[in-house]
Amino acid sequence: MSDQNVQRTLAIIKPDAFGKKLSGKIIDIIENAGLSIIGLKVLRLTAEKAGGFYAVHKGKPFYDSLLEFMSSGKIIVLALEGTDAINHWRSVMGATDPAKAEEGTIRKLYGTRIERNACHGSDAPETAEVELNYFFKPEELVP
Ligand code: ADP
Ligand code: MG
Repeated sequence: MSDQNVQRTLAIIKPDAFGKKLSGKIIDIIENAGLSIIGLKVLRLTAEKAGGFYAVHKGKPFYDSLLEFMSSGKIIVLALEGTDAINHWRSVMGATDPAKAEEGTIRKLYGTRIERNACHGSDAPETAEVELNYFFKPEELVP
């Protein structure tokens, strides 16, 4: 079945990349990777809203600075759809730490350090569903 592994995932263009006007370049990479944009919005998160999104990291040493960063400027949240979209988008983004990211990946190209790594992607079907619901109502997704 050709559509057996069609998935949805949540992508975020983080405040560092948005602030450097890299959103267009990142969206270009998304489209060239064959991922379909089925939802998109510009947001400015509060620290509380960022904290809910990153609740899984609560208690980690970088949690407070992560929330401060994620609420420091505008972001773009995108709902993406495609074959194996979750792992595909993570491979297009590259490793969490830009210093360890593969050549040509978004984090290698546009990330500067682990705290400023340009983009987010869900890591599993369960988290993708939670994260998509965190930012999008069902009727806001246009497959
Ligand atoms: P990913 O974004 O690749 O899924 P994680 O879920 O592990 O990575 O972490 C969420 C975000 O928290 C990362 O994208 C990064 O911005 C930040 N982060 C992760 N680990 C660290 C760390 N050791 N020090 C500082 N920031 C971190
Ligand atoms: Mg993660």
